[in-house]
Amino acid sequence: MQDFRFDAEQHAFESAPSEACGLVVDGQYFRCRNIADDPCLDFVLDSRDYALAALTGTIEAVVHSHPQGGPASDVDLESCKGTKLPWHVFSVPEKQWSTINP
Ligand SMILES: [Zn+2]
Repeated sequence: MQDFRFDAEQHAFESAPSEACGLVVDGQYFRCRNIADDPCLDFVLDSRDYALAALTGTIEAVVHSHPQGGPASDVDLESCKGTKLPWHVFSVPEKQWSTINP
């Protein structure tokens, strides 16, 4: 299963205890910076990275990690609606993926 999930998991492990975030662009993982005030509790995807990703291909999904574990939060669900894209959440301790849709 050498798709975006493999690279996203590496990014998530490297970034812990901060949340890692990125985008799926044409099926590939595209790393983005997390510029949240407290990246251990939240993520804010750097808009410059988003713009760069949009130049390289079609943005298909938003990805971020939960270093403390757990599925998508209520805040994630709300934010997901705003992006009109599916969100993939990787729970680091459980090594499990979940997906939410707007
Ligand atoms: Zn989250």
